[in-house]
Amino acid sequence: MTEETETQSTSQEDEPERLEVPAVARWPIFPFEGDMRVRKLEPRTEEERIRQGDPGGDPCECGSEELKPEPVWANDRWRVRPIQFANKAAPFPAYMLSTQACIDIDDLDDQYASELGILTIRLDRAVMSLGDVGRVHYNRWGDGGFHFHVWFLGRPKGAWQFSGYMLPIWGFTLPSLAPEIHARNDQLVGDHLRKSMSEE
Ligand SMILES: [Zn+2]
Repeated sequence: MTEETETQSTSQEDEPERLEVPAVARWPIFPFEGDMRVRKLEPRTEEERIRQGDPGGDPCECGSEELKPEPVWANDRWRVRPIQFANKAAPFPAYMLSTQACIDIDDLDDQYASELGILTIRLDRAVMSLGDVGRVHYNRWGDGGFHFHVWFLGRPKGAWQFSGYMLPIWGFTLPSLAPEIHARNDQLVGDHLRKSMSEE
């Protein structure tokens, strides 16, 4: 430690030492480069954060008259809608599978569970069928909203730089696909699901 940094750390006595930036920040899949530091850690809270749709939280979006964007496919229990990244059209095929009912994962009974499995595989195939997709990643986080939803993200073929868990961050970073490409993809994914779900 140099004299200069010692002086700095003494003057910042109240601030706990920051964690070191991990090697992943230098991996090619990491979207950002340059000087970075780890964000200051916030203390954990006693209770879980109140999400959209939780009791006492903002009302769930499913209560609004017109759900935007509109589903590309739906039945009476599930729907699939295009994902936008911070209100911006996605830079690759991206769809959200969610229940029609305003329920969370704890409310899914065995019938919902088996439908979720079937829809997961069929939506994966629907997105793969668009072409130019290397792999479909799906993720359920649920930290922002109560209403059960699973992200389906089609990583562009050969785009190893967007691999794995960095893909959603690239979703916020890359420029949007053209509206006509989204329109084509939405139509094809909807058609694929309509066909596969009617063959039961
Ligand atoms: Zn809801």
